[in-house]
Parts: sequence; structure tokens; C-alpha cells
Amino acid sequence: MSRKPIVGGNWKCNPAKLADAKALVEAWKEKGFDKEKVDVVIAPTALHLGHVKTPLEGLGMAVCAQNVGKNDMGAFTGEWTAAHLQDMEVGYTLIGHSERRSKYGETDEDTALKVEKCQEAGLKVIFCIGELLEERESGKTDEVNKRQLAAIIPKVKNWDLIVIAYEPVWAIGTGKVATPDQAEETQAAIRAYLKEAVSAEVADKVRIQYGGSVTPENCKELITKPNIDGFLVGGASLKPSFMEIVTAVQ
Ligand code: PGA
Repeated sequence: MSRKPIVGGNWKCNPAKLADAKALVEAWKEKGFDKEKVDVVIAPTALHLGHVKTPLEGLGMAVCAQNVGKNDMGAFTGEWTAAHLQDMEVGYTLIGHSERRSKYGETDEDTALKVEKCQEAGLKVIFCIGELLEERESGKTDEVNKRQLAAIIPKVKNWDLIVIAYEPVWAIGTGKVATPDQAEETQAAIRAYLKEAVSAEVADKVRIQYGGSVTPENCKELITKPNIDGFLVGGASLKPSFMEIVTAVQ
């Protein structure tokens, strides 16, 4: 099966001003892309999201939340639900980003509850997994990825709503990108695990992005690998040249 590539831009807690966010989207306009050939999904801050949604959609991009609550609506200060995102016509959310896991104590169980809520709401999820440096160095990469995925597998009824982002933690924001062979080997193992734990059909259709220090320069070789179906881009998604990554995969 040929999988349609998907490129995500994770703006994290950036940029400083709404005007900067709008200017970035404006700059992207100069270089179009073929939305038949690649899906592009941008995750601004929750505050900026509503303000850049229309211009991003005008470019053929979708908007994405960076996080979602694990509970239903109610007395949960600071949270929002998958159902809220659906109501606001935000079609995607990230779940399990390593910064949520390491800096906010998000557990595998939390990610599973969040995925469950998104499945109920029909919301698409970019589910982030990946190992720490010491886990890679001690040969535990596949074990960690499997554990993180195993937590959500029982909750997923509709795999068409799931994209996996493999993001080795040591590669995020460090400028130390995984080599194409490292990423391919790990992502092939993730797909093999999906085949074993879910089905051959799901393993074949689920898109797996690579994330971690992706740039317009290094993306071209990474995308030649059969198990790399696109990218989740942090720092480089805050620049006009992000469009070079989008057009490199189409
Ligand atoms: P980076 O971030 O591209 O800045 O390494 C990737 C991510 O955290 O999704």
C-alpha cells in the first residue's frame, strides 16, 4: 500500500506574538504545495490556534492541538476535551509528546485515556513515542516504543484516526538527527509490532512520521526510506523554509 505522507509542524510554546504566527503563515503562502500528495498539520499554541486556523486552512493545512484532556468536560481547570476540539473544528491533536511525558509527568495510562477520548469524539491523533538516549544506548529502543504503543492499542477501534510519530528524545531540539538507517530500522520495527499486535492491514496503512531535528536539508534522504511516511517538525516549523520540508515529501 502506498501511504500518503503527512508533515506536522509542532510550534510548541512559540512564537512570542500572534503577529509573528500570522506573518509565518503569510510567508508560507509564497510557496504552495500539493495537498493531494501530502497532508500538512500545524499545531500552534492553544491561544494562537483559533487565530491562525482560517489562514492555515486557506493554505490547505489542518490545525492540531498540542495536547488534550483525559477527562470529560467539567471541573478540570486548565483542560479541554477531544469533544471541545471537535466542536471547534480542530481535527487533530498530539498525544504523548516527550515534553508532556518528561516535563508534565504524562504516563502511558494518561496517553491511553486521552486516545480513548479522541476515538470516542472521532478526533485524529498524532501519537508520539520514542526512547531516551540511555534507552537507545542500552539497546531498549524497540522495547520502549512497544510499551508506549501497547498502552493505546486496546483503546483504538479506528486506526484511520491514528498517526504515529517516532521521535527519539535525544534527537528532539538537539540538532542531532537520527540517521536515515537508524530511523528506518526503528520505524520498521514499530510497523512489525503493529502487525503482530493488531493486524497486517493496520500495520500497512498506519502512517509513521519521524521527528527530531528535521530540517529542509536532512529530510530529503530520510523520506527515501520506506517506513518513513513524513515528519513531525519542531524548530524548523517556525521558519518560512518549513515549506521546503513539505514540498520535499510530496
Ligand atoms: P525538533 O522538535 O524538530 O525541534 O527537534 C520535534 C518535536 O518535538 O516534535
